[in-house]
Amino acid sequence: MDGMSWTETGTDASERIWPEASALVYDDAVKARTDHLYARVKDVVTPMEWPAFAPLIDAINQLKVLRGATILAHNYMTPEIFNCVGDITGDSLKLAQVAAEAEEDVILQAGVHFMAETAKILSPNKTVLIPDMEAGCSLASSITGADVQAIKSAYPDYPIVTYVNTSAEVKAYSDICCTSSNAVQVVEAVAKQWNTDTVIMIPDQYLAKNVAAQTGIKILTWQGECEVHEQFTPEDIQDLRDAHPDAVIITHPECPPEVMAAADFAGSTGAMANYVKEKSPNKAILITECSMSDNVSVENPGVQFIKPCNLCPHMKRISLTNIYEALRDMKHEVEVDPLIAEKAKASLQAMLDLPKADNPPSFDTGKAAVAVPYVTI
Ligand code: SF4
Repeated sequence: MDGMSWTETGTDASERIWPEASALVYDDAVKARTDHLYARVKDVVTPMEWPAFAPLIDAINQLKVLRGATILAHNYMTPEIFNCVGDITGDSLKLAQVAAEAEEDVILQAGVHFMAETAKILSPNKTVLIPDMEAGCSLASSITGADVQAIKSAYPDYPIVTYVNTSAEVKAYSDICCTSSNAVQVVEAVAKQWNTDTVIMIPDQYLAKNVAAQTGIKILTWQGECEVHEQFTPEDIQDLRDAHPDAVIITHPECPPEVMAAADFAGSTGAMANYVKEKSPNKAILITECSMSDNVSVENPGVQFIKPCNLCPHMKRISLTNIYEALRDMKHEVEVDPLIAEKAKASLQAMLDLPKADNPPSFDTGKAAVAVPYVTI
């Protein structure tokens, strides 16, 4: 079979012996089945690249049907993954919500490990696959379940709000989760429930500082950072403004507060995408992971994107090749200890039970920074 076009064999997908990824070929049949997908990404995927991508995309889309699988693709996936094999696409809140409602028996997470764990926690009876088990996150690795237990012991009167970019164990010892879409709403809701003016928000210190500027609730935090967003500086924003005075500058709340204050708009990846769609600026600069601009540009061909970006090395571990191999061999299944999963689910569910906003809310970039101390344990 290696080196031979599958369509030359006359077999259907269920009888096919799926070859090594390198043996998949771009023939007329694959071209006919994928031309409509290339039309979607032609501005961000070159004609030179497409013959390498198309056979994998075609095979993955057939394997999804064969395996009863749905692919959750995060906004930071490369455009050929996000636009050509992703079934559900978006930010981590949307993916978490859809994972809970998915009808398919198999979920493949095109994203990082904590996202796959979240899907497993919310859908414990489904098979959850991740193409690369090493696809981690600097925020998730900045804190452990034992750290959260120590924080709880030191601050028993304050609720612990945990960003979803964390392990199942960290979620398990927390009181409620949040994403960058709903962080302000979660902090205010949990403060009211606990009748307190102080909330602990972990592990992203920059998200915590940016949330603190938006609310009257006092916040204590942890010294974790996203290694992608922490690299942006106010000087970067000024340089971009000088070079492109007609561009709207849009930041993510994982960026340091000084970066957010220098921007025109700030919000989660979902809020960023909505802003561009609704405002349709002539020129936009998204201060976030590299693939986001490519994916948003597919939906907004009239907007010119300037692309200063930092690659997330964890997100970039996911490729068409390892998605194909994971579905072909049904490998890299994500498991979560059932006791941990049950507790983590309670934290996630507390978040999902809050009223859903029609659109992901934005951060007011004009609000003054406030002091946000670190917890001491
Ligand atoms: S972009 Fe940042 S927060 Fe997202 S997975 Fe990468 S390191 Fe983690």
